[in-house]
Amino acid sequence: MYYNEQTILYLNGKFMRAVDAGIDLYSQTLHYGYGAFEGIRAYHTVHGTKIFKAWEHFERLRHSCLSVGIPFKYDTEELVQVTYRLLRENNLKDAYIRPLVYCSPNMSLTAPREVYLMIAVWEWGKYLGDNLLRLCISPYQRPNPQSVKVDAKITGHYVNSILATSDAKVRGFDEALMLDMNGHVAEAPGANFFFEKDGALYTPPPGHILPGITRATIISICRELDIPVYEKFFKPEEVFEADNAFLCGTAAEVVGVESIDAHTFRKDWKDSLGRVIQEAYKAQVLEKSFTHVII
Ligand code: PMP
Repeated sequence: MYYNEQTILYLNGKFMRAVDAGIDLYSQTLHYGYGAFEGIRAYHTVHGTKIFKAWEHFERLRHSCLSVGIPFKYDTEELVQVTYRLLRENNLKDAYIRPLVYCSPNMSLTAPREVYLMIAVWEWGKYLGDNLLRLCISPYQRPNPQSVKVDAKITGHYVNSILATSDAKVRGFDEALMLDMNGHVAEAPGANFFFEKDGALYTPPPGHILPGITRATIISICRELDIPVYEKFFKPEEVFEADNAFLCGTAAEVVGVESIDAHTFRKDWKDSLGRVIQEAYKAQVLEKSFTHVII
């Protein structure tokens, strides 16, 4: 699904066939989840293939690594150029891009001597699909910010996400909505959360979430479209009284929520601010003007 005999990936400065690439089984990342990664998308825009917010994503990769003590010696502009070449090598115009920084063999709990960088690309539809999502409040909390660096995209953090999504699916829901250690709504296992109430949007502030690049894009879209948007802590009970809600992330893009546990919303998705944001986001990634988006 992610690669075939022809797929080319970028590994430690070289372009090579994915089937020829390997990993040292003694890698510290494999044993302890001590690595960092990114999720980026390229779009076939009216101006050709464009990687959306490439600079921001590679800078976040740098931040993720440095915040947990993984050396990061790569130049952001070079990584952007390498990724454009990788898309061309694989003949991809619309693609998901997965950079991964992983560590050399090291069985102790200390920073590694060496790190490696892999970039893979593949075609990937909207991660959570196109349909409205039935969410459940997860029994799994987001990690305590005094235990891990929650604003870093660290491989090992995703065990928490896998537990939450798997639990949601086993219980017949599409995805989980996770709370933080204080019982406030935090985010989905791989996407941020917004809700609409009385003409304004609300989303949790940084602290217990991965503050997404899509989330930041949406906040700036709101400023441009004069949609009031607030960052604040809130409990599930407040969301149950919301007019509407949506998730957002690079892989998921913008996707509406149908229900949370047994609670549905007053407004239809088609009349919601989320729908407006979804259109505006699509226009922005495709480098089309979104001033035509009517609220
Ligand atoms: N939260 C989590 C836990 C995520 O994994 C992601 C996906 N990277 C997001 C939020 C959304 O972040 P972004 O918009 O930068 O993709």
